[in-house]
Amino acid sequence: MAWETIRKDTAPVVPPRLTDYEEARAVFTWDRARGELAGLPGGGLNIAHEAVDRHAVSERADRVALRCIARDDAVEDVTYAELARLTSRFANVLRELGVGRGDRVFTLLGRCPELVTTVLGTLKSTSVLCPLFSAFGPDPVEQRLRLGDARVLVTTADLYRKKVADRREALPGLEHVLIVGPGAGDLPGTVSWQELTSSAADSFTIPPSSGEDMALLHFTSGTTGAPKGAVHVHEAVVAHHATAAYALDLHPEDVYWCTADPGWVTGMSYGIIAPLAHGVTVIVDEGDYDARRWYRILGEQRVTVWYTAPTALRMLMRATPRQGPYDLPRSHDLSALRFIASVGEPLNPEAVVWGRDVLGLPVHDNWWQTETGCIMIANYAACDIRPGSMGRPLPGVEATVLRTGEDGRALVTGGRVTEVESPDEEGELALRPGWPSMFRGYLHEKERYDAVFADGWYLTGDLVRRDPDGWYWFVGRADDVIKSAGHLIGPFEVESALMEHPAVAEAGVIGRPDPVAGNVVKAFVSLRPGVEPSAELERELLGFARRRLGPAVAPREMAFDRNLPRTRSGKVMRRLLRARELGLPTGDLSTLEGSARARPAPPPVPGRT
Ligand code: ATP
Ligand code: MG
Repeated sequence: MAWETIRKDTAPVVPPRLTDYEEARAVFTWDRARGELAGLPGGGLNIAHEAVDRHAVSERADRVALRCIARDDAVEDVTYAELARLTSRFANVLRELGVGRGDRVFTLLGRCPELVTTVLGTLKSTSVLCPLFSAFGPDPVEQRLRLGDARVLVTTADLYRKKVADRREALPGLEHVLIVGPGAGDLPGTVSWQELTSSAADSFTIPPSSGEDMALLHFTSGTTGAPKGAVHVHEAVVAHHATAAYALDLHPEDVYWCTADPGWVTGMSYGIIAPLAHGVTVIVDEGDYDARRWYRILGEQRVTVWYTAPTALRMLMRATPRQGPYDLPRSHDLSALRFIASVGEPLNPEAVVWGRDVLGLPVHDNWWQTETGCIMIANYAACDIRPGSMGRPLPGVEATVLRTGEDGRALVTGGRVTEVESPDEEGELALRPGWPSMFRGYLHEKERYDAVFADGWYLTGDLVRRDPDGWYWFVGRADDVIKSAGHLIGPFEVESALMEHPAVAEAGVIGRPDPVAGNVVKAFVSLRPGVEPSAELERELLGFARRRLGPAVAPREMAFDRNLPRTRSGKVMRRLLRARELGLPTGDLSTLEGSARARPAPPPVPGRT
């Protein structure tokens, strides 16, 4: 059945919002969440049908789906009806190329309307979409195209020339390269995306498909080692939809904006799929990351919910210190904005307090991973915020804290694990598998996949504690936790304390082996603009941290470092700080922020998980 002929009664059922946390958890089931989606007319489930087609035949057809803001600020709107036609065209293009179920279509694009069209058209065609981050260099691009068995790549002439062209022979499986924008004619072995889509038919019947069909392939950020290709299926949209109702509090009239790059899981799940599944208007900003631009767009577009990352918030904090002046946010009307949500790395309590004091807005931390496919632990509009806490598990999510062994990971004895006994005891965060967007495997790496399950739990690799009321607090990645003089020290706690000092912009903390203590805590600190490093400042900061944290936890050593090494998704790469400090091999650096390797001051790259 073509999308035009689907009956209007497939319009979305508006899911309940979270007003009472305990009650929402008590009544929630994933089956009910599934019932809030339309499903394919002939049975089965397809992400693109839920995100676009069902709205295109409902009273939301003429509502703006995408508000695209070009670099030069030109605004272009795409309605749900138009988006349905555009995505059908792209699905037809793939069909004509002979690309179908399970075939891998990669994107190497910045944020732009063609990206959204490619993503959803690919999903309609039942091919598998794998987004790459457009700032990756040629090596990581080639590595992922090969690991992911790419058949099609959608990119721009410039990106193709710089990152793929001279690797093409090494990628025999890559049959089709589609060039968005000008330049395809000059590049052998490519075709124009615009030419193909403009001549394709604009109705497409989604082939019968099951919710268990593979839909998305997402490479992890590579913070702890070589990136893994997490496999997700169409059923994931059930979780995207439900969690966006609860954690992002999406309402039908919302204007929603997610700054995450579509190359990462947040940019896909919550930048495209979840908000469209709710039929809201989504901002697609093609511009650079810049505090002034953000404030302006938030005000001009009357954005109601903003989903971003701690790095972005730290950029805003730098541009608008708590001490004032507040002219930047005050010169924009942010009155439509209800709250800011943040994900991807620990949200320092300082950022939450800053949001309240400077913007007058709640900042909601939430936690999840590429593997979980959707938000797992969050703060909610209807609940109090405990600054520094990631919040509580979503309805439908069962989480626990497991006792850890010597290696900092959950202790597995005879196949069994043990949950911690008392509140506030630190351990590894584990989740009971069974939610719809749970990854179904690491592509081609079965052993690596099997290794993250024990005794009926999925082991996340993150250390947390749960307070007596059930709020979760991030301690650190199991690999980053420092054992010093018998204490387990989470680097995040130390970094957050340092960041409370007005001179400190960012901090990264590691353990340096020590014959007496096992490890001593060493902090790498980048200073705010205008503050110069000095021995005196080092003494002051060490004393400041000791007063806040106590001598057992506070750093003993410090180095000033203008460019903390970051992953391209904005996370401090502590494993690299440690390797550099100890002269060890640096391991897989494919996701290292490029300029950090060369070491001049890099622009921060926020907003991605
Ligand atoms: P890799 O798995 O390749 O090492 P990665 O874990 O950084 O990379 P992602 O899946 O992008 O890849 O990131 C998920 C991780 O990000 C989480 O496991 C956690 O360590 C961190 N994270 C996400 N959200 C939060 C949060 N709110 N607070 C603290 N840490 C977070
Ligand atoms: Mg990970």
